[in-house]
Amino acid sequence: MSVRTRFAPSPTGFLHIGGARTALFNMLFARHHGGQYLLRVEDTDRARSTEDAVQQILHSLDWLGLSPDEAPVFQSSRAARHAEVAREMLAAGRAYHCWCTSEELVAMREQAVKEGRPPRYDGRWRDRDPAEAPAGVQPSIRLKAPREGSTVVEDLVQGRVEVQNAELDDMIILRSDGTPTYLHAVVVDDHDMGITHVIRGDDHLTNTFRQVQVYDAMGWYRPHFAHIPLIHGADGAKLSKRHGAVGVMEFDAQGFLPEAVCNYLLRLGWGHGDEEILDRDRAIALFDLKDVGRAASRMDYAKLTHLN
Ligand code: GLU
Repeated sequence: MSVRTRFAPSPTGFLHIGGARTALFNMLFARHHGGQYLLRVEDTDRARSTEDAVQQILHSLDWLGLSPDEAPVFQSSRAARHAEVAREMLAAGRAYHCWCTSEELVAMREQAVKEGRPPRYDGRWRDRDPAEAPAGVQPSIRLKAPREGSTVVEDLVQGRVEVQNAELDDMIILRSDGTPTYLHAVVVDDHDMGITHVIRGDDHLTNTFRQVQVYDAMGWYRPHFAHIPLIHGADGAKLSKRHGAVGVMEFDAQGFLPEAVCNYLLRLGWGHGDEEILDRDRAIALFDLKDVGRAASRMDYAKLTHLN
């Protein structure tokens, strides 16, 4: 099976260097294996996504030489498919209707906190007869997650990660207004796009447990996962504006060449011997997820200046 990777930014702002490095690793991995590298614009959050951000991201990827091999997929255009899969899960008994109102859910969480329990959904509609549904309430659809045992992910960077299933509640996959939740949409899209390797920031690692439960419920093959550590500033703190240039196009404005930026991003969290400068063909030939470290990378602008 041909390797297919994807970069899946949410268009809520400009493309920052962390996202650019994720895109670069996805491109290099796909090329190294003679596969395809795709782009999915995750614009399901209509309130926070902007057309301006979409254009900026596409432009930044183009500038970096990281345009995808196929036309971008816009997640918002796939809502009907996300709902269809949720209904398939319902029909197969792998999901169920939940008629809880938002007031009821708030009360449930408050009660749990008062009793010193984590504020999770208690599964009250999991085995209840739908004939008991209250009139006038639109139900959401929840995944019937496994209760026993554990969910294990063999991550290509982080190694084996495991969570006890008792710690995860039955997540909503389709809201009562018929819109999909983000974690569900990502799985349906990755499956339909034929993604074989999900390479993304390790801030998504905890989402993975819930996502693999969706794959399992649908009987779909899980992709391989590789969660790469985030980039921190030279002071070790999470990268933010105060660390200087974080938007990709700021490098263009400062006169850096895209090749220098890509080379620098490649060396941030990925190591290959002492070679300081790798052109793209050499980077494709050498790229291997095994060489991605587990610790957060530190962004040091002095090194970037030196390369230009
Ligand atoms: N849209 C997510 C983000 O921008 C990425 C999700 C993913 O790669 O699965 O952080």
